[in-house]
Amino acid sequence: MSETLHKRPHILFLFSDTGGGHRSATEAIIEALHIEFGDRVTTEMVDIFKQYAPLPLNRFPKWYPYMVRVPEIWGFGYRLSDGHGRARLITNTFWPYVRRAAHRLIRGHPCDLMVSVHPLAAAPVLKALGKNRPPFVTVVTDMVTVHALWYHRLTDLCLVATDEARRRAMRCGLSSEQVHVVGMPVADRFCQPPGNKSELRQRLGWPQDRPVIILVGGGEGMGPLEATANAIAAANLHTTLVVITGRNHHLKTRLEKQSRDWPIPAYIYGFVREMPDFMRAADILVTKAGPGTISEALNAGLPMVLYSRLPGQEDGNITYVVDEGAGIWAPHSDQIIHALRQWIEHPEQLARAAQACLRQARPDAARKIAHILGAGVIPNTKPDSRAAATQPRKA
Ligand code: UDP
Repeated sequence: MSETLHKRPHILFLFSDTGGGHRSATEAIIEALHIEFGDRVTTEMVDIFKQYAPLPLNRFPKWYPYMVRVPEIWGFGYRLSDGHGRARLITNTFWPYVRRAAHRLIRGHPCDLMVSVHPLAAAPVLKALGKNRPPFVTVVTDMVTVHALWYHRLTDLCLVATDEARRRAMRCGLSSEQVHVVGMPVADRFCQPPGNKSELRQRLGWPQDRPVIILVGGGEGMGPLEATANAIAAANLHTTLVVITGRNHHLKTRLEKQSRDWPIPAYIYGFVREMPDFMRAADILVTKAGPGTISEALNAGLPMVLYSRLPGQEDGNITYVVDEGAGIWAPHSDQIIHALRQWIEHPEQLARAAQACLRQARPDAARKIAHILGAGVIPNTKPDSRAAATQPRKA
């Protein structure tokens, strides 16, 4: 299996566009691999649902935004399925149904190392791979409250963002050697020095004379984004409001119409590719408690107001941000406005929160992961000292 058609070591990433976080983390790791190792390694991303899952599971990325629109039901399902035994039951139940797809995936993508960046990839793929397989690494992209489905005992190495995620992995039966805390991988541009805010704003066409608030609801424009945008606009604070609706096209159209009547300058975007520039040009982020967005904001030194969360998987993210002073939990409009007003009227408090973000940031996470993966497959590559303890074990 590890003898691939590729001359250079080939790393296969298993992810899916359920939300935006799995893709962002995967792209960040691939970017870091090429920064660190140039073209000594080749990489490939496979969307496990869109490209391989049988009907109707291949529709999961399409359904996901609708499923999470009823967070209480999502949270109920999350809690019901969470737990080591339950995770095993789920994967065993689905195995007859996904077995052929898993085998097809493996045959179609020979590689020297597999990296799972999605909680539903490891179990079927490891089962289909059997004993004679390449090393298998899991990169967990939930930050604190991590579902048991992420943790498969046969994974050679499991890389997580926080100590709490590591403790949880061990409660799910992984050994201490298997699990390492590296932080959440984010694109390199989030981790560069801040640059010139006013130049960025000029390029983006945003006003210079007032603080900029970015409002975002993950890759799918989730949470009560529309109501929150209207509440912020109605508060008529001395700000510019930038709303990013992600892949929620209908919401973008509605907000474009509504924003014509808002009393403050407003800019409505769909899915943006320049999130690092947006975050570095802004002063405050108002966001759903998505792990990807939070980690990016921490690295960008951008204080955040968390206005919603997916019950279960995003619960722990709130305490992670709030306890360190990097952000505020404000699930109701009046709390959001209060938090924004406080920071706008007291810039010294905002500056303290920005410092707290940078203290929490893990700008080396993606490169650390790249070194661990690279050391596993590139001949004569010495893992750097940060990664030395965390090389993947050969299967
Ligand atoms: N994102 C983006 N462009 C957008 C909206 C979101 O690149 O227009 C990215 C965002 O920067 C982050 C990811 O999508 O990397 C969202 O991940 P998160 O874990 O916050 O939420 P999810 O969408 O997975 O629930």
